[in-house]
Amino acid sequence: MVKKGEFRSGDTGVFFEIDAVPPDEPRYSFLWQPKNDLTVAAQPANFRLRTIRLRGVLSQGLLLPRALFPELPPELPPGADVSDALKITKWEPPVPLNDEVDGPFLPGVPKTDEVRVQSLPEVLLELSGRPYVITIKCDGTSATYRIHRHTGRFTVCGRNWSIKRGQNAYWHAAEVYQLEALLSRQPELVIQAELVGPGIQKNRLGLKRIQLAAFNVFDQRAMRFFDHDAAAAFLAACQVPMVEVLERGESFAHDQASLLTLAEGCYAGTQNEREGIVVRPQTESLSQALAGRLSFKVISNRFLLKGGE
Ligand code: ATP
Ligand code: MN
Repeated sequence: MVKKGEFRSGDTGVFFEIDAVPPDEPRYSFLWQPKNDLTVAAQPANFRLRTIRLRGVLSQGLLLPRALFPELPPELPPGADVSDALKITKWEPPVPLNDEVDGPFLPGVPKTDEVRVQSLPEVLLELSGRPYVITIKCDGTSATYRIHRHTGRFTVCGRNWSIKRGQNAYWHAAEVYQLEALLSRQPELVIQAELVGPGIQKNRLGLKRIQLAAFNVFDQRAMRFFDHDAAAAFLAACQVPMVEVLERGESFAHDQASLLTLAEGCYAGTQNEREGIVVRPQTESLSQALAGRLSFKVISNRFLLKGGE
């Protein structure tokens, strides 16, 4: 939904995804200005673009005219990422995990973010007709475990940083599943999992204990991810639980609408809306649209509208 007359067909604009945090600048003040108040309010702490309903329509982002951004170079290809140039950051949830940052994320290991299907719908075409697997997106926090091939040093990373060894959920999970011993036998492998349970996010899975739900096994030597079935077999042999498969098939034929429907539902045994799903080919492949691994998330609108983060 845009203001009447703000765009004409063929115009370009800057699109802000949900969870984008614009800097405190007058051109965005309408976002945090209370209506009918002429004083310009400062950007409130924690402001971010969220999913809202406007006149009965679901709004998931913000499109602003190109003219509002004279600092951008005139010739930008469609889809260019201007978040750095405009100092737009991504909102990150506060994670009270008693974790202390130890250093940067592991070099050479991919971070675990997934792109929203709505921001790059081309991925649907890339997956079309191919064997696929859809897993349930667990609402916890990302954990990456590995042992350094040469030094033997065991490291745990969160979404963006490595985490100090100590009394925290990341290291607790490492002990529960004996990951240090497990990885020391296969030091070329990296396990990436969602850390879930009491005290993490809102524990929407309703768990009694801290657990892992693994979603990636990465081979550092080959610099590639295990295919789904190979990862499942490896994780089962090590007794590390994996994220739950919701659907798999031999020929992907979903569109955005059917995926959005599939994304909705509650976590097993709870009344809590699940965050959504993650969609991948059964065999790892590269996506042109993503310039990387073909894999994307579909967030449940019911989850977003109920205040999910
Ligand atoms: P937010 O900052 O809103 O919490 P996020 O941390 O969930 O976002 P995204 O990029 O939105 O990050 O989603 C990718 C993340 O989802 C991964 O980093 C991983 O931690 C988590 N995840 C949970 N379940 C799965 C799954 N089944 N497959 C892949 N990733 C999953
Ligand atoms: Mn998450």
